[in-house]
Amino acid sequence: MKSLFDPEQAQEFISRHPGVSPDLALRVYTSRLIGRDPSLVLHGGGNTSVKVREKSILGEAQEILYVKGSGIDLAAIEPEGFVGLARESLGRLRTLPALSDEEMDNQLRIHKIRAASPDPSVEVLLHAFLPHRYIDHTHADLILALTNQREWKALLREALGPRVAILPYLTPGLPLAKGVLEEYEADPGIEAAVVAQHGIFTFGDGARTAYERMIDYVGRAEAFLRKKSRRNAPGASPAESAFPGKRISSLARFNQTVRGACAFRSPGGGLRRFYAEVRAAADLARAASSPDAGRLCSSGVLTPDHVIRTKNRWVPCGEIPPDDGELKRAVRDAVEAFTRDYDRYFAGQSGARKAGMEKGDPYPRVFLVAGVGIVTLGFTRREARMAADIVEHTLRVKLLAGEAGEYAPISEDHVFDMEYWPLQRKKLGQPPPSSLQGQVAVITGAGGAIGLGIADRLLAAGAAVAVADIDSASLEKVRAILAGSCFLNPAGF
Ligand code: ZN
Repeated sequence: MKSLFDPEQAQEFISRHPGVSPDLALRVYTSRLIGRDPSLVLHGGGNTSVKVREKSILGEAQEILYVKGSGIDLAAIEPEGFVGLARESLGRLRTLPALSDEEMDNQLRIHKIRAASPDPSVEVLLHAFLPHRYIDHTHADLILALTNQREWKALLREALGPRVAILPYLTPGLPLAKGVLEEYEADPGIEAAVVAQHGIFTFGDGARTAYERMIDYVGRAEAFLRKKSRRNAPGASPAESAFPGKRISSLARFNQTVRGACAFRSPGGGLRRFYAEVRAAADLARAASSPDAGRLCSSGVLTPDHVIRTKNRWVPCGEIPPDDGELKRAVRDAVEAFTRDYDRYFAGQSGARKAGMEKGDPYPRVFLVAGVGIVTLGFTRREARMAADIVEHTLRVKLLAGEAGEYAPISEDHVFDMEYWPLQRKKLGQPPPSSLQGQVAVITGAGGAIGLGIADRLLAAGAAVAVADIDSASLEKVRAILAGSCFLNPAGF
């Protein structure tokens, strides 16, 4: 791993944001450096902060904690993506023995300095409790390849050296924040903290120091794993596709069958369908065809933060059968086995907590398909892609971790806590589905004004639309107009 910090670019960020403090502008710069590397953070998974002294409306100096807003992408973050909070007031919460979800939500709201700011990251208390000016946090693949091991403590110590606190998994929120603070107070010289099955935090009094410590420690993990394993570091996506063109039709049959088997009636009565996303790089296809496919599917998420996108387990599928009836039976049986297992998991976990918890849908999000690779599902195309990105990284980390030692799954208790943590579920908050969301429409003879009008309306209603026409020039014109439509690019996709 190499530091991408460039003093000239850093200065440019300060000049570009004359209205905000230079410390916050630098925070934006190094957050973006972290955010642009998917092996460090994926889809809102990491977070960063800076502490700045500012004057209140009454002219009184106070320390403001600027922490990344929940779900905001670090790669494109702007100063407004950071939520300002009164740090001293939040810091006093460390004396509490426990904090309910409702009260934590309340405290975060009342200590914001701007009421209209987004919700802060769920790890905000850790950023508030530690004294360091800059704190960087990632769920780096290479760190998780070491934490998710039977011998995690010894491996981490050997790989990262003495200036890192190494903690067991702790529930995000107050327990995690207090745990890391206690480590800091016991040894104020620590430069970083690694939390098992979660990720790494690095600290520094400058933006560059905290960022370069992140790069340094993830680099140490990489060097250590390279020595232990023959495999290259995860993260790089081999360009070669293992999926020959002639088998595209069988993949289309598979996706269609899976979408049918997982469609369900929502409590409101509407039919909900999923979009499917395929990843067929050679190493993924090999893993899906290997004797280990079942274990890769049952060994769960890398970090509980991912469970809302992928569910904890995946569905292993053999080669796609050539016969439609056989394919339907195989997919139906696999989906039924998954939903039965999900019902067992929910009943057991929710029964041990509080009565009346509302169960999410029990359908799988991830299929490992022999000879293909990964097929993921999401209510929107964006969700399906997010799940696919996460599963690509997860699969490569599991393979690497298996070569460096013995991969250890996360307990279902921790996974359930995150899957049903209200502050985490807020990340899924979306407008109610549009009437045709998840449906696929094919328009023949679409190369004219009527075809364009129909396609435009179907896209607006949330459908995925395929257009066809014997006149390829007219069809291309329609495609180009639709490509500029806002409906094709919701939420940045
Ligand atoms: Zn985290």
